Amino acid sequence: MVIRIGNNSLQLIVGDITKQTTDAIVNAANGSLLGGGGVDGAIHRASGPELLEECKQIRKEQLKGEYLPTGEAVITKGYRLPAKYVIHTVGPIWTGEGIDEKKKLLANCYINSLNLAKSYNLNSISFPSISTGVYRFPIDLASEIAIESIVNFLQTNIFGDVVLTLFTQNDYNIYFQAAQKIIKTN
Ligand code: ADP
Repeated sequence: MVIRIGNNSLQLIVGDITKQTTDAIVNAANGSLLGGGGVDGAIHRASGPELLEECKQIRKEQLKGEYLPTGEAVITKGYRLPAKYVIHTVGPIWTGEGIDEKKKLLANCYINSLNLAKSYNLNSISFPSISTGVYRFPIDLASEIAIESIVNFLQTNIFGDVVLTLFTQNDYNIYFQAAQKIIKTN
């Protein structure tokens, strides 16, 4: 599915984000930036050990030893990945409490990643379904927040192409429904 928004596009695909050839791919990282399971582990394995080294460097210098706060984003090189850059963002952990705040933080992941990509003059970016794996954010809600945030950005910026890379057909179907709903109301 491809949605045209001015000169920009939003595409939904089923695929493996580590294979994407967009200028950047987004990592659903944890605040430590030291790697983990899920998409984070897959990206680190495909990129190679240099990625972890650069993440450690960012923790030390840019973040003064602190964790990357939820909703924020940082950028590294892609190393052995087809993508030139990796944008690391930390999604909120769903607990069923503070729902409005969690929704805002998830939107921030998409918005801050897009703004960072734009500030590097990148023209294409692939996102995974942030927070809907081990962080347990309900995917129906997460898909609406993701698409709304991206559509909003593409309506107000000259950027290029955004790809939502969904790992399963089921995830794709949920994002597809959210996209249809949001396009109708736009
Ligand atoms: P989070 O901690 O933000 O929930 P996860 O990595 O656990 O992150 O899951 C986020 C989403 O990424 C899940 O939908 C999962 O199926 C998906 N995922 C896992 N591996 C890949 C991959 N290689 N490419 C794209 N998506 C992936």
